[in-house]
Formats: sequence, structure tokens, C-alpha cells
Amino acid sequence: MLEENLRQVKNNILAAARRAGRDPGKIRLVAVTKTVGVETVRQAAALGLEDFGENRLQEAREKVRLLPQLRWHFIGHLQTNKVRDVLRSFSLIHSLDRYSLAEALQRWGEKLDCRARVLVQVNISGEESKHGLDPQELPDFLEALHDLPRIVVLGLMTMAPWVDNPEEVRPVFRRLRELQQKHRRPEMTLPELSMGMTADYTVAVEEGATLVRVGTALFGPRTG
Ligand SMILES: *Cc1c(COP(=O)(O)O)cnc(C)c1O
Repeated sequence: MLEENLRQVKNNILAAARRAGRDPGKIRLVAVTKTVGVETVRQAAALGLEDFGENRLQEAREKVRLLPQLRWHFIGHLQTNKVRDVLRSFSLIHSLDRYSLAEALQRWGEKLDCRARVLVQVNISGEESKHGLDPQELPDFLEALHDLPRIVVLGLMTMAPWVDNPEEVRPVFRRLRELQQKHRRPEMTLPELSMGMTADYTVAVEEGATLVRVGTALFGPRTG
């Protein structure tokens, strides 16, 4: 079933890229494995998936420990007291959403002598339940990150609101790309756009996503 699901998702990404005249090679599928067991992650890796996303450190720990060779993405809200462990095991943090977290990343980056690769999470829809910066805050925030040499800002991330018709969230994805264009500079080109989940990843690809975070469409509905 996973194999068939994966084929389907890849085909959909390919078709969406074609519709938008984009190079499909610029789009990475991040398999979101929260609530998925380690054997299934192994199976997904054997099918050629290379990027895996988790939103909670506690749940991710065992999988990351057993499969350290995979590329792990931290996609959930990150508490500062988890920064050390996340920096050690994850190759990209999608959810930098406040300055205090940036400071913690800088501090631990120095201690561990590594750099934190991050995306800045933007709350475009303005829903209170969602983390992320207000788009208005983005320029000053990016400016402030400039002074934290252990942080490498690779792009932007957003979560679209839940809607029945994915067309309704197209403006959210479009806005994220506009923010990328507006705020990129020679020393911070913001190449990555992490947007799109099971309900809306094809729309996100049409609007420029370089990372889509897909769980349910690959692994089925979550039971836990
Ligand atoms: C769970 C999750 C996803 C994947 O959601 P699906 O609808 O299962 O594809 C993507 N991004 C984040 C941040 C998530 O927490």
C-alpha cells in the first residue's frame, strides 16, 4: 500500500510541477512519519524516500536513533529546552518562529560547534492557533538573524488553514512566495519554501513549494 501511495503522490507532484512549468527536481517530498512506526519508516526509506519529518522530539527520538542516516526534518513547534537534541539529530528545522528560539539555536550552535539550518515559519492566515511570525514582522526578524552566525536561514515555511477545497488556500501559498521574493537578498536568498500537506500539496507545488510535508497520503490516516 505504501508503495502505491508513494507512486501516486510522486505522480501528483510531477503533474503539478508540469502544470506550473517547474522543474520537478526542485521539489522534495518530506515524508511525515509522526505516529508511524520505525519499521514503516524503514520501508519508506527502502522505497527511495530520503527526507522524513517529525513534529515532536519525544516521538522522533527512537526513530532517529535507529535510522540516523536518513535526513530528518523538525517540523513542529520547538521548545527551547529541546534545541540541543534537535540540533544534533535533525538536518533542517522548519519552525523558527520567535527570537528567543533563534538565540537558543545560536547558543547551542556555539556549544556544539555546528550551524542550525532553519526555515522561518510565517503565519499567513493569521489564525491564532497557528505558530509563526506575522508577515509584517518578517523583515526585522530576518535582519536580526543576520547577527547570529550559527543560524543559516534557508527559506520560509507556512501552514495553511484547514479547508475543504484546497483552492481556497492558494493565496496563502502565493503570499509565502511573494514574501520570499520580497525579502531575499544576495547573502540570504531563501531558496526553500516549505508548504503543502496531504490536503493541498499539489496547489503548493503549483505555487512554488520546494519542500512538501506529506503524511496521511503516504501512510494512511493517523490512528494514535
Ligand atoms: C502532520 C503534519 C504534516 C502532514 O500532515 P498530513 O495532512 O498528514 O499530510 C505536515 N506538516 C506539519 C507541520 C505537520 O504537523
